[in-house]
Amino acid sequence: MKERDGSGAHKVRQVEAIASGTVIDHIPAAMTLKVVNLLAEVEDQVFVGINLRSSRVGRKGVVKIAGRELPERTVSSLALIAPQATISIIRDYEVIAKYQVPMPDVFADIARCDNPNCVTNHERWPTRMEVVLRDPLTVRCTYCERTFAANELSLI
Ligand SMILES: [Zn+2]
Repeated sequence: MKERDGSGAHKVRQVEAIASGTVIDHIPAAMTLKVVNLLAEVEDQVFVGINLRSSRVGRKGVVKIAGRELPERTVSSLALIAPQATISIIRDYEVIAKYQVPMPDVFADIARCDNPNCVTNHERWPTRMEVVLRDPLTVRCTYCERTFAANELSLI
């Protein structure tokens, strides 16, 4: 994506500004499209930047969802794939709230269980992963009780 000036603003803007909605910034570049899949709904207007320069995470992704303010509960699913992301809520082009991805106690139906024998891979049961360790993020399947490093899991 080409860089462009934010119409005289002092800061260079790498992705189109949105008038209102939610901005997810500082996503590891490789996770950007997974974030879109996880959070955006079919009708959403979404702006995506991938492999943007970032002093914090090297190359990053940015996802902007126009017109919807995502609640903290919804973005907590990002803790699995982009725990260092920041969330900004925008109204009238102003940031009215900014927060880090909250760590949930449970990831409900977000990641597949990596145990091929687990009941969730045979029946259409929603998966449930409890957080047992935050750093490095480690989760335990409620059904088969196996533990996994979060970065080993594939998303549903
Ligand atoms: Zn399991």
